[in-house]
Amino acid sequence: MDLKGKSCIVTGSASGIGKAIARRYIADGANVAIADLRLDAARATAEELTAEGPGTAIGVEMDVTDEDAVNAGVAEVVDTWGGVDVLVSNAGIQIVHPVQDFPFAEWKKMLAIHLDGAFLTSKACLPHMYKAGSGSVIFMGSVHSKEASPLKSAYVTAKHGLLGLARVIAKEGAAHGVRSNVICPGFVKTPLVERQIPEQARDLGISEKEVVEKMMLGGTVDKEFTTVEDVAEIAHLFAAFPTNALTGQSMIVSHGWFME
Ligand code: NAD
Repeated sequence: MDLKGKSCIVTGSASGIGKAIARRYIADGANVAIADLRLDAARATAEELTAEGPGTAIGVEMDVTDEDAVNAGVAEVVDTWGGVDVLVSNAGIQIVHPVQDFPFAEWKKMLAIHLDGAFLTSKACLPHMYKAGSGSVIFMGSVHSKEASPLKSAYVTAKHGLLGLARVIAKEGAAHGVRSNVICPGFVKTPLVERQIPEQARDLGISEKEVVEKMMLGGTVDKEFTTVEDVAEIAHLFAAFPTNALTGQSMIVSHGWFME
């Protein structure tokens, strides 16, 4: 169960969870495309991770909401490494408002990044996986794929939607040896979450300490944040698992915040 020589695309991997997944794959000998909005940031991460080795990385400019950009980025990866074995659709943002104040443009932006991004990257990668007769598609869900929180209507809706798309790809991909699964992390201290703390404090009229201790970690078994390394370990399992036995699933990694 290793990823040596595998061709992997991780979207949104110039930062946060995606970067940790890329690092874990490269440590296992994989080649990873750091696909992110800004080419300079993607290239800087690729350079940093290639230096760690033993796998290698390239930076690829990709806005996951833009079909032409997704197709061009995937084509670049196929030209470089001959195919795509693993797709991690991870790019994501957070915007919080109560439903009655949620600007429609921001709702559409959220669904575009999380859902269009997952659809477009899958659509572009699956033909290459089907041709090879194997592959792994991984979506970055959230505990919010299973649970709701106030202010997060667009995020919760999009993250629930990813479960459906992953299950369809699991059924369509099975005949081609392609698996599809969702990772559902609890709160992980990345720039995405750091930005939410003051925003939620403002919107809910509570202190930032209360946001962390009550809203974010109040439901965990030990008041601990999940780490990027914890999430990367699950991403490695889903990528490297050798058979169709593990497909159409979602794995929660959240210090027990959500149990099922
Ligand atoms: P982050 O802000 O550190 O990283 C997100 C990355 O996505 C950035 O590099 C950004 O440039 C990139 N990105 C944003 N829009 C993009 C687009 N249109 N096209 C390509 N790249 C784009 O955030 P993170 O916390 O590492 O989040 C990564 C994923 O994990 C997201 O899908 C998020 O919803 C999910 N997640 C995060 C947490 C958490 O607590 N941090 C918990 C559960 C799930």
